[in-house]
Amino acid sequence: MIHKIGVLTSGGDAPGMNCAIRAVVRAGLRYGLEVYGVNDGYKGLVEGDIFPMDRNSVSDIVNRGGTILRTARLREFKEESVRQKAVDNLKKLGIDALVVIGGDGSYMGAKKLTEMGINCVGLPGTIDNDIASTDYTIGFDTCLNTIMDCVDRIRDTTESHQRCAVIEVMGNHCGDLALFSGLAEGAEMIITPDHPIPEEEVMESLRKLHDSKKSRAIVIVSEKIYPDIHAFAARISEQTGFEAKAEVLGRVQRGGSPSAFDRILAARMGAYAVDALLDGKGGICVGMVNNKIVDYDIYEALSLPRDKHISMLRLIDILK
Ligand code: ATP
Repeated sequence: MIHKIGVLTSGGDAPGMNCAIRAVVRAGLRYGLEVYGVNDGYKGLVEGDIFPMDRNSVSDIVNRGGTILRTARLREFKEESVRQKAVDNLKKLGIDALVVIGGDGSYMGAKKLTEMGINCVGLPGTIDNDIASTDYTIGFDTCLNTIMDCVDRIRDTTESHQRCAVIEVMGNHCGDLALFSGLAEGAEMIITPDHPIPEEEVMESLRKLHDSKKSRAIVIVSEKIYPDIHAFAARISEQTGFEAKAEVLGRVQRGGSPSAFDRILAARMGAYAVDALLDGKGGICVGMVNNKIVDYDIYEALSLPRDKHISMLRLIDILK
């Protein structure tokens, strides 16, 4: 039987992490557990930056972006001797189990801590939607809405000036932010790691669009595809007839108040994680599949193939 649990956020921050923290704290207290917060992810765990939380520690945070526990990356956490310090700090306080809110790197840390005697449950907190064991990660929906808002604004000026807007969005090797926002925006072209388009084909399509008297075009591109997105836009200007301008949306995509969808997802997953720990589970991560909250062994989750959304691509093609 466990008595004390901890909660931390790790990796890149994502809107909705606070809602997940709140759910873990409130559900834990409700079941009679003592709940501890850990600042700065695994770094705080190693440094012993661990403190007790009560109901009020998580009041008025559901609407706040970022994470009240802050987040960090600690490469050295891959070393067993560094993780041992974390385990010792937890044991000193009598903390039996931990909820880790983060991406796939954080999951690996959680799995390894479980193997060292601290049961951990991972929650998918990342804007990228790059975790195969869940249909949606916490933060993805909010980020998608932020991108849509930005693209709507860029569209206004693109139309006025009859330009081609090349908009680079985040995703960290996962094309979901580009694909979903591209569909939502009716973009003329969507270029992602899963669905790359040879440059010659990009130019040819845009040239045809321009020749068909289309006055403007929107091209949404995942980050890390073009080393210099501005140079790519310059080539579009040279080769297609469109005047192209590149926009890198950047970290504006990470911030902001979480959407209702992310808040509810985080609440469901946070409460589920506490239940799982009470059941003695560890080394697992929580996901939502077909609107049902489920869990997977972390190694299994990390080996699952990601959905490449072929039906969505077909829809995008039909609606072109
Ligand atoms: P995001 O998807 O937002 O980048 P992430 O959780 O994948 O989030 P990472 O930087 O990959 O972000 O990982 C976060 C932290 O998890 C790392 O800084 C490190 O402390 C820990 N971590 C990553 N990989 C491992 C591993 N193989 N073993 C132990 N710990 C790890």
